[in-house]
Amino acid sequence: MTLERTRLLLLGGTTEALALAERLATDPRYEVISSLAGRTVAHRLPPGELRVGGFGGAAGLAAFLRQRGIDLVVDATHPFAAAISRNAALACAETDLPRLQLLRPAWLPEPGDCWHEVPDMTAAAAALPALGRTIFLAVGRQELAAFAGRPGLRLIARMVEAPDDLAGFEIVLARGPFALADEEALFRSRGIEVVVSKNSGGDATYAKIAAARRLGLPVVMIARPPAEPGDCAPDADAALAWILARQVRKSCAGGLTPHAN
Ligand code: NAP
Repeated sequence: MTLERTRLLLLGGTTEALALAERLATDPRYEVISSLAGRTVAHRLPPGELRVGGFGGAAGLAAFLRQRGIDLVVDATHPFAAAISRNAALACAETDLPRLQLLRPAWLPEPGDCWHEVPDMTAAAAALPALGRTIFLAVGRQELAAFAGRPGLRLIARMVEAPDDLAGFEIVLARGPFALADEEALFRSRGIEVVVSKNSGGDATYAKIAAARRLGLPVVMIARPPAEPGDCAPDADAALAWILARQVRKSCAGGLTPHAN
């Protein structure tokens, strides 16, 4: 009897996905295929097999799962990446595969914070003139359209890579993690009056929220889209425990033999 490795599709684009891929890379029981959307040039690539680009919706993802003989799916995409998470839920339902969502906890307001919580980008843009005129946008380049064409506002947008159309925005190109002192210095030097942020959670981009608190700046905090129903883990350790609990041994001679380790 030989041990057939469990084949796992890891939908990534987050630090948690990278951490999980690195943890699983040293475990011979697993074969991990990491998947990235390919929107930005990745800073660090996960170990093991990597594929880049969309699958072609839920049907395309289901076809990929079948073709590659995937045993488990871990959706470790960003909390605001709702379309791929929906597709993963649909594709796993169709192929009857176990799926885990690795979803870091949302940030919560702390004493001293002045948050204006809004449901989406449109509501965030609508909240702006009343709160200040010099705005720091930490929402990602795909979301800038909601804030465009607003006379009287100075819009300073931070992103990893510059979009083609920069009209109306001052762009700060930078990739996290960010340090509190640097965020504070940036806000002071640019005269920031309001911070707009997605409630992404995690440590890597939290410094802007802490800096806003220290400087007494209001934060327009955009709520997350609802998570897909199903199993959920808050970090790579919990995801690893979920994966280990589903360890599957396959016998060479005769089909699948579920085996809990
Ligand atoms: P999205 O709106 O949920 O996804 C749009 C489409 O992009 C999906 O339907 C899928 O195309 C493709 N896609 C997304 N993630 C993929 C992945 N990991 N592997 C293969 N295809 C993927 O996603 P998004 O908000 O644009 O985010 C894109 C990626 O950037 C995600 O992987 C996410 O983890 C990462 N990211 C997002 C944010 C954010 O704020 N949204 C922040 C940091 C990192 P098909 O339908 O053709 O399969």
